[in-house]
Amino acid sequence: MAAGNGMAGNGASHGPQNVVIAGGGIIGCATAYYLSKLGVAATVVEKGEVACASSGKAGGFLAMDWCDGGPVGPLARLSYSLHKTLASELGQDTGYREVRTYSVAASAKPGGRKVSLGKNSPKWLDKNVQRVKEMAEVGTTAQVHPQKLTTAFMEAAQASGAKLVRGTVQGITVDKDSNSVTGVTVDGAVIPADKVVIAMGPWSGDATKWLPNVPAISGQKAHSILVRPTQEIGAECLFTQFQNSSGRHTDPEVYPRPDGTVYICGESDSVELPDDPLSIKPRASAMKSLQEVGASISSALAGATVEAEQACYLPVSGDSMPVIGKVPGVQGCYMASGHSCWGILNGPATGMAMAELIASGKATCVDISALDPGRFAKRGIFR
Ligand SMILES: Cc1cc2nc3c(=O)[nH]c(=O)nc-3n(C[C@H](O)[C@H](O)[C@H](O)COP(=O)(O)OP(=O)(O)OC[C@H]3O[C@@H](n4cnc5c(N)ncnc54)[C@H](O)[C@@H]3O)c2cc1C
Repeated sequence: MAAGNGMAGNGASHGPQNVVIAGGGIIGCATAYYLSKLGVAATVVEKGEVACASSGKAGGFLAMDWCDGGPVGPLARLSYSLHKTLASELGQDTGYREVRTYSVAASAKPGGRKVSLGKNSPKWLDKNVQRVKEMAEVGTTAQVHPQKLTTAFMEAAQASGAKLVRGTVQGITVDKDSNSVTGVTVDGAVIPADKVVIAMGPWSGDATKWLPNVPAISGQKAHSILVRPTQEIGAECLFTQFQNSSGRHTDPEVYPRPDGTVYICGESDSVELPDDPLSIKPRASAMKSLQEVGASISSALAGATVEAEQACYLPVSGDSMPVIGKVPGVQGCYMASGHSCWGILNGPATGMAMAELIASGKATCVDISALDPGRFAKRGIFR
């Protein structure tokens, strides 16, 4: 794929680059894709399958300005616009469409004050709904299918020469004299590399055992279901305040998709991250709770068929902000992780910024200085 696409940098001017990306989630695959647009063919090493973790099980909701006012604001705005471009640029269905977004109060028990739905309110909210309020300006929220987008990134990168290796990254090798990365240990063998990107989502914390100065990343488990309703539901995403049949208050999110399914997520747990991404199992009671949400707000969802029951882990950094940039102290080591609940939104801009940084030494598409991994070292905090 040719450069000349608004991105800074050109791999050729900096000599051949041997880049290995640890992790085939949206962050690793987007980085491989934008590197391929700069003429750098990276190797992505993935332990399970591409998009087998949260990048395949997330909701895919996108908001243009919900991160404004903080260090992630400019990244999110750029990424929001990239999603629209990618919907045609990748030449594959990414499940992209603009949506309308509502705040909804509802409960499992019928009764209470019924809303009279305004002319723009979702007509399918015909059950125990107490309040509906549009919460975003038209044109400022959208959605993608996270698994389709992540896979499309990887396939487009591969079409330009990137490689996908199935294996577990176990360490990073460093030349002690120059203090530079020389390779990545994968299942006991070393793949040579002069640049390595730690993009292992919640497992990125494993790299704190491999090198000093790598910021800690932990995992927060969350659940989701995918259901197929009995009637078609419009492009209307919901952020709900829901009281379930036991009286517990929860905040599930409901995202109808263009393929006719409806994604419902919520129900966080503080449980240890397992080593194997493919071994993550949902909690049965969380599945029931999420089904109760659908059945309580809409008759189309009350009779829905369940197509998937799943769980995955959000990658969370020490200050809950993404960690994007060079790891201090070792030449050639980079990190892109900790995107928490906005990794699908921010994946494209993160990949573009990382690609520029790797290929030319500076990210110019967006200012990522506030997200630099070195911020933790400056504060003397790594864990
Ligand atoms: C329920 C839920 C809903 C969400 N909804 C949204 C949403 O609507 N919008 C949004 O913007 N974000 C959403 N998110 C957040 C988003 O899913 C994440 O921020 C994003 O997917 C993180 O991507 P990642 O590439 O960093 O990590 P991951 O997707 O976790 O990918 C990391 C990859 O690294 C691999 N790996 C791990 N260890 C190794 C190793 N040692 N060697 C090789 N490979 C390894 C794993 O197998 C995995 O494939 C949601 C998250 C959850 C949990």
